[in-house]
Amino acid sequence: MIPAHSQKPAFRFAPSPNGLLHLGHAYSAILNYDLAKEADGRFLLRMEDIDIARCTPEFEAAIFDDMSWLGLRWEKPVRRQSEHLDTYKKSLERLIGRGLAYPAFMTRGEVKACVAEAQDRGMAWPRDPDGAPHYPLRDRHMSADERNIRIANGARHAWRLDMRQAIAELSGELTWQESGDGEVGTISADPAAWGDVVLWRSDAPASYHLSVVLDDADQEITHVVRGLDLFHATSVHRLLQELMGLPQPTYHHHRLILAEDGRKLSKSEKSTGLSQLRTAGLSPAAVRRLLDM
Ligand code: GLU
Repeated sequence: MIPAHSQKPAFRFAPSPNGLLHLGHAYSAILNYDLAKEADGRFLLRMEDIDIARCTPEFEAAIFDDMSWLGLRWEKPVRRQSEHLDTYKKSLERLIGRGLAYPAFMTRGEVKACVAEAQDRGMAWPRDPDGAPHYPLRDRHMSADERNIRIANGARHAWRLDMRQAIAELSGELTWQESGDGEVGTISADPAAWGDVVLWRSDAPASYHLSVVLDDADQEITHVVRGLDLFHATSVHRLLQELMGLPQPTYHHHRLILAEDGRKLSKSEKSTGLSQLRTAGLSPAAVRRLLDM
């Protein structure tokens, strides 16, 4: 059951144009489209193209082609994250101004070395739900003077959320409403499990977490329908929504379409690419049947 909202229901499909769509994307796009139709709602498309080094206009055009071929229609204009970098920047600056974000100077190699050293001493280093080690606390505790000197000297840095401070600002329990293929109902968010998440990268603007909540709010998305691989990330999204005073969509994390050997599908895998299936003569109806839809 998809919960009702007072606004016109709005759903979105948000691919990254850094490769070709595969069956997993098709499932997510078709499901969003069908649910939007069923709810007499809107179906929006968003290009998550912040990673300018890997996203190309050719991949974007291929996404439009594949989606049209599947028989999906979406509202225009399509939102591109690359056109909203100012919005993300302003929100980051507000979080910095409130003491909720700090500059993080450690390189990937330094983090790895720090974690390895602690583990050699027998310490169990905390890991996030995706298995990545939490960012060390060193930079969270750095003095304002030292931060300013480093930044003035041109030190490369990201910006990270001070998770402890952020959680301290919450009033009441942090939850979300879930109607997907895993746990359903009122879910207790656990953002602390992620440590000090990155909000702004040193090599690319705005992190996924920061941009996705701002985009969903700007596009007035009422129902976020996406893969179960993003279930736990919702804890971070709910926290950011509360901190920034954004509306709360409901969530539906759907089953993942896996390769025959049980691995996640990849964009480079030929056998499950939509354009390959199309060239091989498969019809959109056959794609739906293949996906049990
Ligand atoms: N761009 C993400 C992906 O391709 C989807 C993010 C989302 O739906 O929140 O996996």
